[in-house]
Amino acid sequence: MRLVFLGLAGAGKGTQAQLLSEQIGLAYISSGDMFRFHLANNTTLGQLAKSYMGKGDLVPDDVTIGMIADRINQGDTPNGFILDGFPRTVAQAHALDKILGSEQVDKVLYIKVSEEELVRRLAGRLGCHHCNTPYHVDSLPADTHECPKCGSELHQRQDDQPDIVKQRLHVQWPEITKLIGYYTKQSKLTEINGEQTVEQVQRELAEAIS
Ligand code: AMP
Repeated sequence: MRLVFLGLAGAGKGTQAQLLSEQIGLAYISSGDMFRFHLANNTTLGQLAKSYMGKGDLVPDDVTIGMIADRINQGDTPNGFILDGFPRTVAQAHALDKILGSEQVDKVLYIKVSEEELVRRLAGRLGCHHCNTPYHVDSLPADTHECPKCGSELHQRQDDQPDIVKQRLHVQWPEITKLIGYYTKQSKLTEINGEQTVEQVQRELAEAIS
């Protein structure tokens, strides 16, 4: 099964895609995580991506497409995969179709959340350096600095600061609208109400792919 999770920053794509990939044994591929890995390791790709990510802009298509093509072509996804954060432009969607050849995307799950709620979520989002688990400050005991799951330090993503969040949403919204059109035409898109509990969203997603 080849799935694409579509949604604006903060919609819960990462949380849901990771849960589902563990449940049904699909490879989890997150373009944002891959860029952050390159940033942390100061690779040439990381240095290139840094200037875009730091401003809340999209990394150029050719760079992003090359990175994802390499990942998919590694051939270690025999049961399929869940793509989180890719494609983010129609050019990337066309490139994905080419990369996949005869084994095209089966379903696209669009997790819809209002802009107000996205801003609230991103402003309070914390992540674990070690196990990558995302949290919201409102759901943690006051003054928690460590991950309740593994004890490592929690941190706020640099691009979750209010000015950068504004730019990310501003840049991503028109692109996502075009992608919704692209995948609706192919009858692959299912819209999921992302403003529910994690468990409710999980259930809706499970129904959509069953
Ligand atoms: P994310 O973790 O998915 O929110 O992505 C973090 C940042 O990585 C984005 O704001 C972009 O700068 C960059 N990025 C991730 N995925 C893509 C993509 N498909 N195309 C271009 N830039 C991306």
